[in-house]
Amino acid sequence: MLRKILIEPDPILRKKCDPLEKVNTDTKKLMDDMLETMYAAPGIGLAAVQIGILKRLVVIDISKDEEKKNPIFLINPEIIYQSKETSVYEEGCLSIPGQFAEIERPAECTLKYIDYYGKKKELKADGLLATCIQHEVDHLNGILFIDYLSKLKKDMIIKKLVKKKKEIERVIV
Ligand SMILES: [Zn+2]
Repeated sequence: MLRKILIEPDPILRKKCDPLEKVNTDTKKLMDDMLETMYAAPGIGLAAVQIGILKRLVVIDISKDEEKKNPIFLINPEIIYQSKETSVYEEGCLSIPGQFAEIERPAECTLKYIDYYGKKKELKADGLLATCIQHEVDHLNGILFIDYLSKLKKDMIIKKLVKKKKEIERVIV
């Protein structure tokens, strides 16, 4: 089922998410919905908070090939290592539509998490995946990529989003 993606500015996107206590069929259903919503958007990562659910859940798929989907489900992800070396990617966000900015983050990270089946896992990531993971884990702590920009740039982006939101509302009304 497709879920509605919250758009910044929205106070929910700024909340810290709670860990999930246990993985059950409801969790799987929710993560399936998140994945479907992410693919439809389309995007390469989505955190539960972006559809208004304040739990530490993330779905990611950075595969470019439509035929070979490679979804990653992260429950209670915890970054346990970040490299000193950094890399820069132009980031966007499904909650900040149409806006992009170059963001510098640690180039590599290691992650502890629980998978779709409730098993404890560890994942070493670099490149685009490392950036995507760190972007999504930020969401779970109420942080958006625009928070890394200068106040001026950030305010400009938020202004644009507010304007766009009003236009959308006008059409609906
Ligand atoms: Zn995002």
